[in-house]
Amino acid sequence: MSYVKGLKCRECGAQYKLEAVAICEECFGPLEVYYDYEAIKTKLTREEIAGRQKTMWRYRELLPLENDPTVGLNTGCTPLVRAARLAKALGVGELFIKNDAVQHPTLSFKDRVVAVALSKAREFKFEAVGCASTGNLANSVAANAAAAGFPAYILIPDNLEKSKITATQIYGANVVPVKGNYDDVNRLCSEIAGRYPIAFVNVNLRPFYGEGSKTFGYEIAEQLGWQAPDAVVVPMAGGSLITKIYKAFGELSKIGLIEEAQTRFFGAQAAGCNPIAAAVKAGTRDIRPVKPNTIAKSLAIGNPADGYFATGVITNTGGWSEDVTDAEIISAMKLLAETEGIFTETAGGTTLAVTKKLIEQGRLSAKDRIVIAITGNGLKTQEALTLEDLKSIEPKLSAFESAAGFTRAVTAAA
Ligand SMILES: [Zn+2]
Repeated sequence: MSYVKGLKCRECGAQYKLEAVAICEECFGPLEVYYDYEAIKTKLTREEIAGRQKTMWRYRELLPLENDPTVGLNTGCTPLVRAARLAKALGVGELFIKNDAVQHPTLSFKDRVVAVALSKAREFKFEAVGCASTGNLANSVAANAAAAGFPAYILIPDNLEKSKITATQIYGANVVPVKGNYDDVNRLCSEIAGRYPIAFVNVNLRPFYGEGSKTFGYEIAEQLGWQAPDAVVVPMAGGSLITKIYKAFGELSKIGLIEEAQTRFFGAQAAGCNPIAAAVKAGTRDIRPVKPNTIAKSLAIGNPADGYFATGVITNTGGWSEDVTDAEIISAMKLLAETEGIFTETAGGTTLAVTKKLIEQGRLSAKDRIVIAITGNGLKTQEALTLEDLKSIEPKLSAFESAAGFTRAVTAAA
């Protein structure tokens, strides 16, 4: 049974039936799914959730499907890691990492949104699916489409990391590199969706796709013992994820699973693509598009679709947004790996580097319970890193001792 009531315009409130549409006909505002929270409240209790499988579908009443899900059945319930060594290095008290870099099947949080979007594509009886992507979404649509038996049409900017392209091609998807940036790719996908019956998960299925991100927030609250954190730091590309974590905490309080959240929301961007951070710093919600130039390619969206709403969430909750240089991103990737054993992609490096900056600015303090969102795996963006060249040794004990700086005396004593 479904608790979905329909689609509603986020700008003017006009209501629509459940169809594969994303834009309001009246005002061109984005559409959003809305639910019967009163009915959900009577069904979805903490005990009910605790008795269910450890996947994102344990919160299925809050997701926009009419029937049981058919795609991505094992997705979700990633670890919330207490990062004590990292907290010490940064000088804060309680720091947690919500680690979606270990998400199945493709090592990023996009598996959540794709599970919902492709299940919805099947309910709408689409025979083919697609996406505009900076890499992680491409990986996820390709993998989930293969497993579900959908042909997939995946359009990407042609300058993506090689490993992200490989991890899309391997699933047999139709991968089309486009000369241009993400914003050009997205425009082209809208044109194709207008002419062909392809379910583009982040274009014509956008209202449904975005709902999958809420599970990232539900899990954080459940893993903290049904409490919202004091602060979350979230990477921002199109700006959707930060608004959906906000929505998730709001919904949980609406149905009585947590107390009203007092969480401050902080957005992370790279200096080479910072339209949302720039707007927050300028005290406006109007986004001025930029031309991206950063190693954090998964965040390289110059004209973010949800930028206006992301700045709203940040300013209305008393948060802030910062941006960091490529050098700061790489150094944060190393810090996370060396302190917590977590290898994140450049987006995670951006999030951690921004967290560090927020602590230095006094916007986050030792009193705060902080969660940082790590949304993708470092194996995908290794090209961004240059590490020290390693020297080979002869296969001899003496050669190892001299390379490791051991002396004979130390070896003998041990
Ligand atoms: Zn409208």
